[in-house]
Amino acid sequence: GSVFSNLVQAPEDPILGVTIAYNKDPSPVKLNLGVGAYRTEEGKPLVLNVVRQAEQQLVNDSSRVKEYLPIVGLADFNKLSAKLILGADSPAIQENRVTTVQCLSGTGSLRVGAEFLARHYHERTIYIPLPTWGNHPKVFTLAGLSVKSFRYYDPTTRGLNFQGLLEDLQSAPSGAIVLLHACAHNPTGVDPTPQQWEQIRQLLRSKALLPFFDSAYQGFASGSLDTDAQSVRMFVADGGECLVAQSYAKNMGLYGERVGALSIVCRAADVASRVESQLKLVIRPMYSNPPIHGASIVATILKDRNMFQDWTLELKAMADRIISMRQQLFDALCARGTPGDWSHIIRQIGMFTFTGLNLDQVAFMTKEYHIYMTSDGRISMAGLSSRTVPHLADAIHAAVT
Ligand code: PLP
Repeated sequence: GSVFSNLVQAPEDPILGVTIAYNKDPSPVKLNLGVGAYRTEEGKPLVLNVVRQAEQQLVNDSSRVKEYLPIVGLADFNKLSAKLILGADSPAIQENRVTTVQCLSGTGSLRVGAEFLARHYHERTIYIPLPTWGNHPKVFTLAGLSVKSFRYYDPTTRGLNFQGLLEDLQSAPSGAIVLLHACAHNPTGVDPTPQQWEQIRQLLRSKALLPFFDSAYQGFASGSLDTDAQSVRMFVADGGECLVAQSYAKNMGLYGERVGALSIVCRAADVASRVESQLKLVIRPMYSNPPIHGASIVATILKDRNMFQDWTLELKAMADRIISMRQQLFDALCARGTPGDWSHIIRQIGMFTFTGLNLDQVAFMTKEYHIYMTSDGRISMAGLSSRTVPHLADAIHAAVT
C-alpha cells in the first residue's frame, strides 16, 4: 500500500470550491458569483489594454533577460508600489523610513509580513475583523501568530458594528497587531467612514496597537486610487508604524501573475534598513526570490505617465461597472417587490455584496437557479451583467418568499 494510504480527503477551499462546483453544473443558465475576479459585461475575464501594451513593450525589448531578481524583488516595482499606496509626496518615503519587498500577490505579502512579525515582534496576537476574508486566519496562524477577532459587521443593520469594534480593540492587549482592510472590506462591503477611521486610528495609537493593512482593492472600490488609500495614509501621516500588503490582482487584473508588495513603515531609516535585512531571511528559505514578469508589467505602467493615466481610466471603468450592477440588482428587487430592505446592496462598496441570505437560501438558489456563491451569502458583483441581473433577482425573490 501507499505510505499515504491513511490520508483523509481534505475538503475543497470554501471560496475556490464554489468554482469547482460551478464547473460541474451542465445548466446553460448557471451563474458563478463566488469568484473574486472581474468579469466583463459579456461574462469574460478581462486583460487590461494597458497591460497588453506593457507586455508588448517588454517582449520587444531584446535586452531583457530572465535572470533571478534579488530576494526583495524588482527595485523599481518596490519604490513605485510604496508611492502608489502611501502617496507620491509621502514624508515616510522621502525619509527612507519605508521598506518594500515584492511578494507573491496579496496573500504572499500577508504571509511574509506575518512570518516577520512572528519572529521579531514582541506581541504575537493579531486581531482580525469578524467576519473577514476566509484565508486570513489560516495565513496568520500558520505564520505563527495567535489569531483573535474583533466585532466588525452588524447583521441587523448590515453595516458596521462600530461600538463593538471600539470595545474589542480597547480591550486588546497593548501592542497587539490589528488587521484592517484598507478599503472594500471582504466579504461585507462595509467600510468605516473617514471620521470612524480617525477614531480607529486614535484608539490604535493610544494603545500602541500595530496596524497591518490588507490592500487588495485599491482603486477598485471607489474608482480612485487615492480615495481608496486614505485609510492607510491617515495612519502613516501620524508618523507611527504600520505594515501594508498590496495586491495587483484585482486593480490591474494580474490575478495569475501573483504580483504584490509588502511595505513596512518604520519610525526611522536605520530601523527600516534592519527590517529589510530580516525580511530577506524570511523570504530566502520560502521561495528564494519572486517572479519577474508581473512585477515588470506593473513597473512599466507605473513609471510611464501616459500608461499610468490609461490604467486609471480602465480601473475606473471596472469600478463603475460594478457600481452600476449594484444599482441594477437593487432596482430589479424593488421592481419585483421582494420583501425586505435591500438598500445595503447600493450602500456596500467593492467587489462583493454581503446579501444577508442564509445558508438554506443560498443552497436553494444553487439548486433551483444554478447560482453559485459562498455559503455566507456573499456575491461577487463583478460576476454579474445586465443580462444576468434578472435571473439573480428572480432567484433572490424566490429564496426569500
Ligand atoms: N485580501 C483580501 C481581502 C482579498 O479579498 C484577497 C483576494 O481575494 C487577497 C487578500 C489576496 O489576493 P491575491 O493573493 O490574489 O492578491
